[in-house]
Amino acid sequence: MRKPHPLSLADLRKKYRSTFILNGSPSKREIALTFDDAPDDHFTPLVLDTLKREGVKATFFVVGNRVEAHPEIVKRMVEEGHLLGNHSYNHANLPKISDDEFRKQVIKTDNLIRQYTGYTPSIIRPPYGNIREGQIQWLASQGKKIVNWNVDSLDWKKLTPEQVETNVLAQIQPGAIILLHSGGGKGEDLSCTVQALPRIIKQLRDDGVKLVTVTELLNMSTPTQ
Ligand SMILES: [Zn+2]
Repeated sequence: MRKPHPLSLADLRKKYRSTFILNGSPSKREIALTFDDAPDDHFTPLVLDTLKREGVKATFFVVGNRVEAHPEIVKRMVEEGHLLGNHSYNHANLPKISDDEFRKQVIKTDNLIRQYTGYTPSIIRPPYGNIREGQIQWLASQGKKIVNWNVDSLDWKKLTPEQVETNVLAQIQPGAIILLHSGGGKGEDLSCTVQALPRIIKQLRDDGVKLVTVTELLNMSTPTQ
């Protein structure tokens, strides 16, 4: 028997609209800055410096094995009031791994986050934005929201700061969830993110936009310690 065709990400997004989120309500002038692949010990501290200077609270989707590698950076994120979400344990392409391995990755990273924050994260962003239907259903049963994005900075492509700024500002709309990165792997360079960030923040504020965390944007109850 032929297997049924898996639904595309766009179809899954339509089918699981309340679980699989790309943006907040367009009726409020609020936007969430999100940083994936955190933490590392080079670019993440630079991003944190800027956010602190500007008084902005952001959302970091952390990778479990990077949390283990850089606990001091995770402590700093928490101390400075940022929100943490789950980005898997080892940045696996989730549709390719077994159900068992998938659940282990989620739970292991949740436990690490709870260790530093005191809360179990209610939000998860799958690496590459990729996820399959059974995984969405399991996350929904756990009361979690999958939070992708609707504005992609493409900052991992070693662009110029101007290109990153343009990619973000050209697509911006109220309720946007902006994808940036703060963790670089070997050979990756996120200097463009670090340099573009103050300009993006200034531009958004000049436009009267409030920068909030993902849970604030989605009116979810804010996790408390
Ligand atoms: Zn990632």
